[in-house]
Amino acid sequence: MMKPDTIESRLFINNEFVPGKQGKTFKVCNPYNDQEICIVHEAAKEDVDLAVEAAEAAFPHWSNIAAHERAAYMFKFAQFVQREAQQLAELDSMCMGKPVELLKKMDIPACVGVFNYFAGSGYHILGESSLSSPNFLNVSVRQPYGVVGLIIPWNVPMIMFAFKVAPALICGNTVVLKSSEKAPLSSLKLASLIKEAGFPPGVVNVVSGFGDPTGSAIGLHMKIRKISFTGSVATGRKILKMAADSNLKNVSLELGGKSPAIIFEDADLEDAARYTHYSINHNSGQHCQANSRVLVQESIVDEYIEMVKKLMVKVTLGDPADPSTFQGPQVDQKQLAHIQRLIDQGSKDGTLVYGGKRHGTTGAFIEPTILKNVPLDSAAYTEEIFGPVVIVNTFKDEKGVLAEANCTDFGLFSSVYTQNFDRAIRVAKALEAGAVGINCSVPVRAVDMPIGGWKQSGMGKELSLHGLNTYTELKTIFMKYNSDPTSMAVGRWHSGQRVDVNGDGSS
Ligand code: NAD
Repeated sequence: MMKPDTIESRLFINNEFVPGKQGKTFKVCNPYNDQEICIVHEAAKEDVDLAVEAAEAAFPHWSNIAAHERAAYMFKFAQFVQREAQQLAELDSMCMGKPVELLKKMDIPACVGVFNYFAGSGYHILGESSLSSPNFLNVSVRQPYGVVGLIIPWNVPMIMFAFKVAPALICGNTVVLKSSEKAPLSSLKLASLIKEAGFPPGVVNVVSGFGDPTGSAIGLHMKIRKISFTGSVATGRKILKMAADSNLKNVSLELGGKSPAIIFEDADLEDAARYTHYSINHNSGQHCQANSRVLVQESIVDEYIEMVKKLMVKVTLGDPADPSTFQGPQVDQKQLAHIQRLIDQGSKDGTLVYGGKRHGTTGAFIEPTILKNVPLDSAAYTEEIFGPVVIVNTFKDEKGVLAEANCTDFGLFSSVYTQNFDRAIRVAKALEAGAVGINCSVPVRAVDMPIGGWKQSGMGKELSLHGLNTYTELKTIFMKYNSDPTSMAVGRWHSGQRVDVNGDGSS
């Protein structure tokens, strides 16, 4: 694993690594052994101001070069990410406990793929044109906001970096990204690759720090015109409030989930068990879309639980640097305590079927856990656990299960397992979620398909051309022309719009 003196821990502003202006730092610890990894520089409000200034200065040039020129930097950057896969994976693994092998298999290809996809999408930033108003050619065009603020969580830092930085840049925006205080190191390493790829100074700035003061300096900044945030619902609300209290900046939010998977008795049960188990157990259950609630038809629930138990027995918990480890620690002791509290509550309100305890005495490890028959008003059922804990409840029929599946405030992802095509489509349509998997669970994703939450799981979309468009403002340009000089006598209103055919403001 990387040695502390080889790890970059300063702020990245205007293509330089610099210490924070107030000299404040914070400690980052490894949740595997609770040991300090390194000390990281914290950005104060004045550092965020400097980053915004640099981004603002870089904007005119960056937004005016051709899309393929911006893309060239991005393609080069993606190649460097692939080259540095080992170090990048080690940095995230040390901070948040995800196995290095899983990071190399999942996060690195996702980061590279998303940069390549958006780099290739620069000529799809399109508006519309219309000849429907007489004597006018009207066009709408998409233009970048300017300086965009990006705030990301700790659970998949490199994927979140790519999801936000790549579409923002190809549209011509410049960015100030704040990483999570729990996993800031991969973002700084990615910043060094931004510099190596030759991006002009100020196009990408990366600041480390806590929600307050660093995050709120971004949320309240008067020169940041758009903010894209991923994290918890509670912080998402604060971001919206900060936008309202400052300059009404445009806000996109990707928030938490409590995703259901519905398994009907005609499903391929082995597949369903395998996919739902992987969904909630990979990355130690720290996946916003993981199916944390599995609703199983009564007749097959015992068989399903036995299958999942067999898979959980095989889960290897241990050093995330060891290639044979499936499950690393949770991100920190605080998160471990949060998970334990909800497991205890769920065990009291329902039944603990498997696991449920801390694993070992060092590190933030928790056993893979199954809770059964947890009532819908239990905190274990309503709150996001964000750990390897699945609630298995039973249902009798389609109508009843849909009511339960849609009963939470979240709406991020849902799954349905059945061999019946008609039912699969009916249920997929009725589920209140931004995405639905038929006979599959997350991780499942396509760069050209939008993802994003319904209800309190978010606003706005990421990935695909929908995600791209969230980084642009729309402008309509009305272009008047005289088609026939002999027909210049009539002024009229057309489609709610005044057509000044006389050319002198009269009509
Ligand atoms: P969090 O809300 O605690 O923090 C997210 C980010 O916001 C961090 O960078 C944090 O420093 C910053 N922040 C905290 N308070 C702030 C404030 N007052 N002002 C500005 N910034 C502030 O979330 P987390 O614990 O880092 O991440 C886990 C959460 O993220 C879970 O709820 C998970 O479901 C969600 N998540 C959602 C998606 C998605 O795509 N919907 C993806 C990944 C994670």
